[in-house]
Amino acid sequence: MTVGKGPDKRTFEELLAGLKALPSLAPYSLTLYCRKPSRSEFENCCSVVEDALCRDVARQFFEPNLEVYFQEGTTSVCRYGGGFFGFVIPFSIGSEEFCLVGDGVRDDSIDLWQLAALARSGGGEVFSLFPYVESLCTASLAEVEQVAQELAREVTQRVEKFSCTPSYSAPLPSSAELGEDECDPRLSAVARSLEELDHANTVTETVGLCCEALVTHFNAPKTAIALRDASGSSFEVSGVWGLPDQLGSIPADAIHLFTAKDRQAKTVIYDAQMREVLPAVQATVCTCFPLRCQDERLGFVALFDAAPSKSTSLLISMLASATAAKLSRILKDAEQSKENALSQRLMSLTNTLLQVDSKDELYQAILEIAAELIDATQGSVMLIDKDGQNMHIVFTLGMTLNIARCLPVKVGKGIAGMVAQSGQPLLVNDVEKDSRVAMANRLRFKSKSLICMPLKLKDKIIGVLNLSDKKNLAPFTDADLQVLTSFANLASLMIERTEVLEESERFEQLSVTDALTGLYNRRFLKNRLEEELNRSIRQGLNLTVIFIDLDFFKSYNDLCGHLAGDEALRITAEIIKASLREMDIVARYGGEEFCAVLPGTSKVEAMIVAERIRSEIEREIFPGESEIPQVRLTASLGVSSFPEDGRTFTALVHASDVALYEAKASGRNRIVAARTSPGQKEMPAPAPPSGMAKTLDFNAYLEASVGAKG
Ligand code: GH3
Ligand code: MG
Ligand code: MG
Repeated sequence: MTVGKGPDKRTFEELLAGLKALPSLAPYSLTLYCRKPSRSEFENCCSVVEDALCRDVARQFFEPNLEVYFQEGTTSVCRYGGGFFGFVIPFSIGSEEFCLVGDGVRDDSIDLWQLAALARSGGGEVFSLFPYVESLCTASLAEVEQVAQELAREVTQRVEKFSCTPSYSAPLPSSAELGEDECDPRLSAVARSLEELDHANTVTETVGLCCEALVTHFNAPKTAIALRDASGSSFEVSGVWGLPDQLGSIPADAIHLFTAKDRQAKTVIYDAQMREVLPAVQATVCTCFPLRCQDERLGFVALFDAAPSKSTSLLISMLASATAAKLSRILKDAEQSKENALSQRLMSLTNTLLQVDSKDELYQAILEIAAELIDATQGSVMLIDKDGQNMHIVFTLGMTLNIARCLPVKVGKGIAGMVAQSGQPLLVNDVEKDSRVAMANRLRFKSKSLICMPLKLKDKIIGVLNLSDKKNLAPFTDADLQVLTSFANLASLMIERTEVLEESERFEQLSVTDALTGLYNRRFLKNRLEEELNRSIRQGLNLTVIFIDLDFFKSYNDLCGHLAGDEALRITAEIIKASLREMDIVARYGGEEFCAVLPGTSKVEAMIVAERIRSEIEREIFPGESEIPQVRLTASLGVSSFPEDGRTFTALVHASDVALYEAKASGRNRIVAARTSPGQKEMPAPAPPSGMAKTLDFNAYLEASVGAKG
């Protein structure tokens, strides 16, 4: 073979035959693809076929993607076509580029449907291929990987022999000086480094291992590593060997000078352009190995003033791609856990915001939390006025509200006005330079960056949240904007919730009656009873309170249904109203509990009214009652009077309640009057009207019927 001209077809055939002779490759077909002279595609230049069908499936799978595998630069093992295994090993000899594809074994499990599709595409019966595929040699993914790695090492060693002369002629360290020798012991050393890299957990550890491997296995006179910084805007370059620790940074838009595709692992002149972005390095030539993972540029490794051979380049490329893969995984994990931390933070913020029940407190909490989330020290909440034309500041952080209130803002004007109109959040790096806002930085702000977020209620923009002056005075970032956007969605939900709460409270305040019975509600009763009490105190009049509670109403509901229950409550309300005078007040106190206030009425007089109510309820045939003979819905009553049982709302209600409890305890369907002295006066239930059998209560009936069923 002529040095510098590249190998010919016969050499390829010999190479392939030699590789195929390896015992582990017995079941495999091997195909060598070579990049066409047009440089755009790979073409099959020779193959040793073991199994025609496997070869055909592998051809369909690999051929359209060879460019991708070649760019990736590492050995890949794939599973395709329902359970076939194959691998591809990209490599170069001199300036020529190759992919070696192996195929011929299958997975233990075969996907029948894919196999059927395969059979159909070949015009065969659906499962015609099955017995044939079943007879193929099986292997696990790990086994195929092992075969492929072994073969890749073999290829590296054999290819070494075809090495071409470098494309420049400066006197450079020889192969021996770079640590290379005939059987390359570095292979196993690099393999160990790759294994160690696989176990690295942090960026520092990964970079440290990569540098260590570079220094120990390759004696390049000068080695450097460049790594993308957190913002992604530049790459920090550090010396690994033979160079100062810190070599400065390369702007992201100049990184292609070092990592351009056609420059991958090729020694080139360290030209003026490269020198300009990396002036700290003095060198004549350089070889760059990109740290790239799935199109993500993480940095590069560069060897200066050395001409690594193909095998050295291949080893360093392996090291670089393993480092890049690890770095990318660590960075993605960190990103993920940052996202998880953010969701957890937002969850706990939801809890904080749920504690707040007035809108004012809510806006204040939103402002404080938002500022804390992105380290802002100044901020304000502006709400759009009813007219929709103007906004006013309702809360501030870091400035006094009085000053802020003097800063009226028109919707559509200024930064906040624009955001209020468009509903789109705005991140400004420099208020003086941003063409969207272009204005002089106002004196009260320390930095020129700000974020303005719209606050929304459903889809309506109700105001904006302004935040400025980051603690370290740095500009706000896209990440800040993203965090705030997530938070603003949560804030909107909370505003909506508080709005609904306040609205329903407002309605409740406004209403004085109970929707079901039309009677006054409890809140109104309290106010009226207090008024009447004051009047009674002033005028020296009596006042009596009667509490009425239906007996075993729960059982009635269970037996007759909730709708009947509602109707029974309406009927009871009517009965109570009909038993009272115009001037008396009656309210629904709770579920099936009513309260009547009888101004100017003594306890003795009120007992007559109470008995009228009790007996009317007992006599009434409530919905569903006619179907249940001998069962009656009844009520128990508790009576208390001013002045003897109490002089305040609370005292009188308490006294009635105690009396009512006693009425329940002593058998229900009766009236008990409160007495300040021990014991309470009871008015027992009278005998049932003639012609009617002794009544049962609903509870007893329910229990009896359930008992009978059981
Ligand atoms: P007690 O004799 O001890 O008062 O027994 P009770 O079953 O009447 O009392 P409890 O407090 O256990 O149950 C009251 C029931 O009143 C429970 C509920 O189903 C019913 N209730 C309360 N408000 C309404 C309402 O608006 N409509 C209907 N249908 N039922 C109601
Ligand atoms: Mg009851
Ligand atoms: Mg009750």
